[in-house]
Amino acid sequence: MTSISTPLVDARRIVVKVGSSLVTNEGRGVDPQAVGNWCRQLATLAQQGREMVMVSSGAIAEGMRRLGWVSRPVQLHELQAAAAVGQMGLAQMYESQLSMHGMRSAQVLLTHADLADRERYLNARSTLLTLLSLRSVPVINENDTVVTDEIKFGDNDTLGALVANLIEADALIILTDQAGLYSEDPRSNPDAELLRSAVAGDADLERMAGGAGSAIGRGGMITKVLAAKRAARSGANTVIAWGREPDVLIRLARGEAIGTLLTAATAKVAARKQWMADHLQLRGAVVVDAGASEKLVAAGKSLLPVGVITVEGGFHRGDVVAVRDERGREIARGLANYSASETRIIARKPSSQIEALLGYSNGPELIHRDNLVLA
Ligand code: GLU
Repeated sequence: MTSISTPLVDARRIVVKVGSSLVTNEGRGVDPQAVGNWCRQLATLAQQGREMVMVSSGAIAEGMRRLGWVSRPVQLHELQAAAAVGQMGLAQMYESQLSMHGMRSAQVLLTHADLADRERYLNARSTLLTLLSLRSVPVINENDTVVTDEIKFGDNDTLGALVANLIEADALIILTDQAGLYSEDPRSNPDAELLRSAVAGDADLERMAGGAGSAIGRGGMITKVLAAKRAARSGANTVIAWGREPDVLIRLARGEAIGTLLTAATAKVAARKQWMADHLQLRGAVVVDAGASEKLVAAGKSLLPVGVITVEGGFHRGDVVAVRDERGREIARGLANYSASETRIIARKPSSQIEALLGYSNGPELIHRDNLVLA
């Protein structure tokens, strides 16, 4: 075993991404052995207390097998139909393999647009975090019925990174059919060297990654390098490794140096602040009483509606709002779980009354601690 220990040892929340060509053994339907292997490792790591999320393609290839299609159709609507047929098989495979190892699984179909929309972002985030707290392994794929990004661009690497951002994962492991990132294309240049580690986002990486991937999954190395850059924005380290390497996930989590490690230059908390500052416009504010302000700042708690005195602006669920104390000082910013009009109704009320007042509940917090940064 290699003695270098990587940051993956301490990774508590890990997103693993596998592409079509690996899952389906070069297009011949879902490969039960390969999926079984990853599921055993996911279960082992989850049972060690890590939170594991799987982003897996392979629906189209499985659909083609089920439909008896020998060549990949060119029409997008046929590919989408194949994905719909095949997704059943893909989900079934993960569900049976994970349950064999004592783990519950959950199917989540997402699109990039879902994660760009603030309300959906928050919904997807709370669903995934709830699934993890329920000790389930979310199995995610692109929702091919409504979008065709991956079908067209082979881009589930990006989805993997977006999921890592969404749940602030510590690590993103991209499993592929190559040993990692090489200095040159190893298929045409025998002198190509495997890159052991680099900082995600380094411009040289994009140059090195060039070219496209195999005929089945079309996410070449470049999409992986860009995915690592994106994942690093929320502080996740990325590993690109060969998916059939024995016990690859378990060994990576033990700290073994396998494949290429692309480290995030920014730590998680700083990254979250950066993300809020860069990507989200302030849509409103709430003024909170001294008790709530104390709980936020000194005790590290969430903001509950009961502490809110006034509501400013017309924000929606998922928008960023400023939190001010009674003296008008901004003490924090965060993603609101309720819109401005809902907040006006539940302000000053205990969270136990939210459901009675609104007819539903998005949780007891107005801003959950995890979605909040102190000023
Ligand atoms: N999301 C699709 C799948 O899981 C797309 C993969 C592809 O284009 O082959 O099959």
